[in-house]
Amino acid sequence: MIVLDRGALGPSFQLDAGRLALVTPGPVTRPEQRVDCAWDERVQLRPGAVNAHTHLYSGLAPLGLPAPARPPENFVQILERIWWRLDRALDEKSLRASVRYAIADALLSGTTTLVDHHESPRFIEGSLDVIADEAQALGIRLAVGYGATERNGGAEEAQRGLAECRRFLDANRRSLVRGMVALHASFTVSDETIRAAGELAWSLTAPMHVHVAEDVADVEDARRRGYEGPLERLLHLEALPPGSVVAHGVHLDAAEVERADGAGVWLVQNPRSNEGNRVGYPHSLRASAHVALGTDGWPAKMDDEAAALRRLGRAHGDDEKALEARLGAGQGLASALFKMSLGEVKPGFVADVVAGVPGEPPRQVLVNGRRVVADGRLVTGDLEEIRAKAKEAAPELWRRMEAFP
Ligand SMILES: [Zn+2]
Repeated sequence: MIVLDRGALGPSFQLDAGRLALVTPGPVTRPEQRVDCAWDERVQLRPGAVNAHTHLYSGLAPLGLPAPARPPENFVQILERIWWRLDRALDEKSLRASVRYAIADALLSGTTTLVDHHESPRFIEGSLDVIADEAQALGIRLAVGYGATERNGGAEEAQRGLAECRRFLDANRRSLVRGMVALHASFTVSDETIRAAGELAWSLTAPMHVHVAEDVADVEDARRRGYEGPLERLLHLEALPPGSVVAHGVHLDAAEVERADGAGVWLVQNPRSNEGNRVGYPHSLRASAHVALGTDGWPAKMDDEAAALRRLGRAHGDDEKALEARLGAGQGLASALFKMSLGEVKPGFVADVVAGVPGEPPRQVLVNGRRVVADGRLVTGDLEEIRAKAKEAAPELWRRMEAFP
């Protein structure tokens, strides 16, 4: 029986089948059962953070991803010259190293749930198992889907991406992992692919995860195809079941955001990524109460993402209260995705819990009642080995990027 010992800071909690329960007062006699949550009077016990949109496949990027030979001048060129070259270069080994490195970093930062959007066009079949196995082993909660696209190999590539989602959704039994259906973005798929993705999602009662209106190029593409925009296209082709996750929405208008909200769709704002890619600020997201926070592949230190949200939101005239609500909205998104009570440190809630002094790295992290970070150290994996493997895999990946222009 694990006890989250708050001492005089109280109340303390014990864990009952991965859920929080109030502890009966009295000393914890066996030291191995005690999780110290009172080493400093400033220690707070809070729910683990949720990163509602990310890309674990880019986890090696902080380890020296080289700048492209020709600097990108717009969003599509950023994709073409950096991320679409990186994802084509991924194989099983580099994906595994990337995922382990990014997950370890997330857990050590107090992030306990990731909503991952995956693509590795030269390693599609079985790729979701690599990600899911590492999430389960290291002990992070994960929702994951393969972002089907036609940008490299046309309709056949998209079918393989959707088949990987289907295979994974059928086969996955990991306690911490849920499957999703995913599309890369409206502008890299045909109507047929969108329709097939929607049919798959509805038939398996799985949510969709897709980039929408991240850049104006996505909107212009949907208009050229005869739609009002990418959101309207996805809704028209019945590809956004309730509970779906739409990343970005930078170039949606307020009426479109309201339509997404009415369809029960979550939107995810990614402040650092949007700023870095210079795609604009998502003004219209204020029309939805279901906007969560994601890092879009940036490291999952959600405090840094939150600071960026506050800074950019204020600069763009967003309401302070609405911004604060966005910081917590990921908990609702995760509770819906995993069909469990997440997001509060209260009896009955699942023990995805972090103990730490605000502004310092967390010392104790539990996911589903399992200790994953103890006294500031990762206990579910060998951090030195994870970092060494990542440093070995990164330059190999950069070399393959050169080989696959
Ligand atoms: Zn993204």
